[in-house]
Amino acid sequence: MSTTIDLRSPITDIKGFGPRKAESFARLGIFCIEDVLRYFPRDYEDLRNRKLIAELVNDEKAVIEAAVVLIVPGRGFGRKRTLHLRVADKSGMMEILFFSAGYMASSFRQGEVYRFIGRVKLSDGRATMFHPVYSELCDAEEPGIQPVYPLTRGLSLKDIKKAVRAAIALLPDYRETLPDAIIKKAKLCPIAHAIENVHFPKDREKYGEARYRLVFEELFDLRTALRLSKNRFGRGREGISFRAGSCAEFISALPYELTRAQARAVREIEADMDSSVAMNRLLQGDVGSGKTAVAEAAVFKAVRAGFQAAFMAPTEILAAQHFESFKKDLGGFGFNIACLSASLGAAERRSIAAGLAAGEIDIVIGTHALISESVRFKRLGLAVTDEQHRFGVNQRRLLGEKGSNPDILVMTATPIPRTLAVLLYSDLDISIIDELPPGRKDIKTLKYGPENRAEAYALLSEELEKGRQAYVVAALIDDSESMGGRSAESLYRELSKKYPRAGCGILHGELKQSEKEAVMADFSAGRISLLVSTVVIEVGINVPNATVMLIENSERFGLAQLHQLRGRVGRGAEQSYCLLVVDEESETASERASIMCESSDGFFISEKDLEIRGPGELFGYRQHGLPQMQLADPVRHASVAELAGRLADELIDGDPCLMKAENRDFGDKIKSKFGDSTALVL
Ligand code: ADP
Ligand code: MG
Repeated sequence: MSTTIDLRSPITDIKGFGPRKAESFARLGIFCIEDVLRYFPRDYEDLRNRKLIAELVNDEKAVIEAAVVLIVPGRGFGRKRTLHLRVADKSGMMEILFFSAGYMASSFRQGEVYRFIGRVKLSDGRATMFHPVYSELCDAEEPGIQPVYPLTRGLSLKDIKKAVRAAIALLPDYRETLPDAIIKKAKLCPIAHAIENVHFPKDREKYGEARYRLVFEELFDLRTALRLSKNRFGRGREGISFRAGSCAEFISALPYELTRAQARAVREIEADMDSSVAMNRLLQGDVGSGKTAVAEAAVFKAVRAGFQAAFMAPTEILAAQHFESFKKDLGGFGFNIACLSASLGAAERRSIAAGLAAGEIDIVIGTHALISESVRFKRLGLAVTDEQHRFGVNQRRLLGEKGSNPDILVMTATPIPRTLAVLLYSDLDISIIDELPPGRKDIKTLKYGPENRAEAYALLSEELEKGRQAYVVAALIDDSESMGGRSAESLYRELSKKYPRAGCGILHGELKQSEKEAVMADFSAGRISLLVSTVVIEVGINVPNATVMLIENSERFGLAQLHQLRGRVGRGAEQSYCLLVVDEESETASERASIMCESSDGFFISEKDLEIRGPGELFGYRQHGLPQMQLADPVRHASVAELAGRLADELIDGDPCLMKAENRDFGDKIKSKFGDSTALVL
């Protein structure tokens, strides 16, 4: 057997790692030794801060070294079993608990000393750590700052460190991953230095250099990938000119005047559609700002110019609602409009598909059913996607591919903070509707705690008395999701009794499509006045007579979500209310509620939302179609993002396909890193 290992060697080439370990590494996305280099620590521990059990303080993160004195048989069976350790050092004893961790029982041996790193809970003088990071002690005393890695079944911290050390020993062979010119311009440290110091920081300064380099690189890579995808799908591609149609006739037939912002958006869209370069436009507008009418104007123009238009919505309910507004606003022009959804019978779907293929249907509204294999268009000219962040990247692209370079309009009510928009949407032109239709009253937002929850319902009762309708939103469907909190089903039971005359309905994701539609239809028509729901009503629903949005356990929702929910009311001329019932007092919960009470500006709220998320809570970016980032945070690292963006643009402008000799390695890296998702965003 050869004794030389290199970066491409499988992880099993490291002494002591067999196929079992390899399987565990694979779960972390680590196959070869090189992969380990990019498995960054999730935290660091300063081992000089070790504590004795007797010194532990409640709610503090601590490092202890203690021997396992007892492995207590836990409750539950198999994998679900709780693993309970009693450990001791010379100062005292404490408990260590891992839930659903039956598989870990064999990780510990009685009498052996381990290091545990985690948050301490003290109660009744007894200290407990839940799910600490743990490792066996190394033979050589580890000094200073040590990395902490996310673990997985079958891998201990010691295993991962061992792999990292093996990989770092091979670092001299690791090729630079950015073009030299970029490293010079951005004053970055070499990749080997960065990787070594992010795993085992020599000192604070070197750690800083390492992080800067890696954060820069992540943002730079992403922007480059986006720019490369732009060259494939984005700006400048040859498209259709729709000069033969005009939006004017449609606009003058609307029962209202467009707002100035809507009119501007229509002008921008019309200019794009007139030009023979394909449109690639994002229409951003807060909930209720009237994006639908703008989209309808574009659809009108496309159809009048002799093309078909497709409009894709993220849920069946929304598709159905858009279908209604399209019929109302465009039906009078003699267009053939159809709605395609997964809930239709096979025969109906076939007949719509046939109509589209034959060009008999001019406009089709639908869910992702629109991108299924069987749907073909005769001459698709315009593809509109509503609430675009709800769709996967590929889904959006597939709709566009149903035509030959159709114009593309994507819409979103999720305001995107500027820093993200700059990074993400470099390949889209953006129209913003920053004005609501006239006559809307500000929505009053009020916060209630557990002690005055009844007051929220008193206000709701008053509104029902006046003949208005109300939404009550719960974080859970039923009580089996035992995280505590009020579920939609228990609220439904409670409120049906409390408001027997109002008529109560319930809506959640587990209902059958036909049931959902029936409930929505009842609520729209006013046959029921109170709709208990989960967040399925988050986007798009439009019932102007609804004036109350009461949100239970509002602490469970993010700001952006609360803002979307609030947007369901305030759609008519009456005063509307958003009532936030907070069940659990935490700083974040009350900070969120205060921000909601203070502001109705979606852009402001989304900036705040990103600010108060803890580090590592990158979920929000996913919403915007951003791949998960390891270290970079486009909000916190806004200025790095800006530099990275500028340099990436310069690079691509000078070498659009990254084919120059000095850029080719980098280009290959981007292609393998992003693969097909270079079709990001569009
Ligand atoms: P969103 O941007 O959230 O999709 P919609 O397009 O659903 O908003 O519009 C919200 C409501 O406002 C609809 O009932 C629509 O008919 C109405 N609306 C849109 N534009 C105007 C306008 N310029 N004047 C008055 N009402 C309007
Ligand atoms: Mg909408």
